Amino acid sequence: MHKYDFVIIGAGLGGLLCGLILSREGFKVCILEKNLQIGGCLQTFKRNGSIFDTGVHYIGSLDEGQITNRLFRYFGIMDRLKLKRLDTEGFDILDFKDARFQYPIGMKRFVDQFSNQFPKEKKAISRYAGKLEEVIASLDLYNLKTPEAAAGFNSHYTSNAADYISSITDNRILQKGLAGLNILYAGTAEKTSLYLHSVVSHSFISSAWRTIDGSEQIADLLAEEIRSNGGVIRTEHEVSAFEYIGKRISAARLKNGDTIHGKRFISNVHPSATLRMIDEGRITKPYRERIHNLENTISAFTVYVCLKENSFPYENFNYYKINTDSAWGIRDLKDTNWPSGYMFLTPATSKSEIYADCAIIMTFMDFREVDKWKDTETNQRGEEYLAFKQEKAELLLNEVEKSRPGFRNRIKTYYTSTPLTYRDYTGTKDGSIYGISRDCNDPIRSYIPSRTKMPNLFFTGQNISMHGVLGVAIGSILTCSEFLGMEYLVNKINEIEIRGT
Ligand SMILES: Cc1cc2nc3c(=O)[nH]c(=O)nc-3n(C[C@H](O)[C@H](O)[C@H](O)COP(=O)(O)OP(=O)(O)OC[C@H]3O[C@@H](n4cnc5c(N)ncnc54)[C@H](O)[C@@H]3O)c2cc1C
Repeated sequence: MHKYDFVIIGAGLGGLLCGLILSREGFKVCILEKNLQIGGCLQTFKRNGSIFDTGVHYIGSLDEGQITNRLFRYFGIMDRLKLKRLDTEGFDILDFKDARFQYPIGMKRFVDQFSNQFPKEKKAISRYAGKLEEVIASLDLYNLKTPEAAAGFNSHYTSNAADYISSITDNRILQKGLAGLNILYAGTAEKTSLYLHSVVSHSFISSAWRTIDGSEQIADLLAEEIRSNGGVIRTEHEVSAFEYIGKRISAARLKNGDTIHGKRFISNVHPSATLRMIDEGRITKPYRERIHNLENTISAFTVYVCLKENSFPYENFNYYKINTDSAWGIRDLKDTNWPSGYMFLTPATSKSEIYADCAIIMTFMDFREVDKWKDTETNQRGEEYLAFKQEKAELLLNEVEKSRPGFRNRIKTYYTSTPLTYRDYTGTKDGSIYGISRDCNDPIRSYIPSRTKMPNLFFTGQNISMHGVLGVAIGSILTCSEFLGMEYLVNKINEIEIRGT
């Protein structure tokens, strides 16, 4: 019987990063992935020759010396990625009914550009930028410093982002502009912390990048590194349960009945789904219920458009249309106003820098919309479901047509995904796109430490620290620090940078 040092469940970004860190340190690692394809939200798919990302559309802080760049260097993938930096003058365009905002790359440029638009608000805008810097400076790991053991939550986790923004300016239009990126974390006015708002906004304002030909290259490069360290990745290996010796897990049991034995187990799968793999009685009921009852972020509906050749220009920015009065209202999904906004982007491809090969249009969708098909399987959901998808896609395309007249004529064909697609491909609860929802009014309740109630089972992935490429990378450091020690790991990351410069 072969026994691994670590069995990792799920080959999403979190599982792959833990596999890489631990295999590099000489541990025998086996990653088990339920899908044929690795990557989770990093997966891409091909239709009609076009490559579409399912999850990661752009990545923040990849300029030289910035946090994601430093982490990617440590992971050994930075110089091998095919990347395109988004427009310096406007990587994101936010289009509200009464104002349009262009988010530039660089904090100084951000202050200057927003101040030009709101000359009377220069002081508030500078204060806001200073606050983002202050929040980041207070987070040791985001500066690759070893956190104090008892650091806990600082005040930014309990401060409300919407309240902070309204405290620095009464200008309601500027408030929308400052809060506008909240689609990137499915923010709500009542619950989003200044911490979450600041980390996401700061990360992308620092620099914003797209992958060329799809984000799956990140997963592929990580897998290559893991295998070169002797690690094993097995696809179509869905874990359904565990086996035990005494109080410890001894093996992961697969859906087909096979078992994979290990000393320690790391789950990259949603905590609620992980707990379902553990026998009744081995975990206390209150813990199980606490995790199951946590609210999850909303899901999405996406239209993937293959464009006619050389018919539509490549846009080196992301475009957000927001039809609600408040920037925080985009996820208030009433039947009558769906979609209340959307994100439109043309992925970067090696085919052309001038013309777009395809486009992705994404908006929020509540799982309840597809609830009646929840027990069906991919490609077997029936005619009514197909009609539902088409109706929603047409509504979304009508919206796009308003901002891009003639867009419909450029469409060769399109495909759609719903909350069921996200649920079935990534295993997240109700297709939630960013995992467990955080609440600044009670941050401890939605806090998931990497240690679990089982002595040799640990969590990683977007539910540990934060979602997104940067959040999951930080989460993998938190998880692996349990075995390697935080100081040791942080020193290793910094060593790479010193050697590289
Ligand atoms: C639509 C969308 C858009 C996004 N856009 C961006 C963006 O532009 N930029 C950004 O930084 N982030 C973005 N994100 C967030 C980011 O993609 C995620 O936070 C991150 O990729 C999550 O990684 P993970 O490892 O936690 O989980 P996942 O990627 O969900 O990986 C979990 C893995 O576990 C596997 N699994 C599940 N159950 C089992 C089982 N029983 N046995 C074995 N394997 C199992 C799954 O198949 C999957 O591969 C987006 C997410 C979505 C959904």
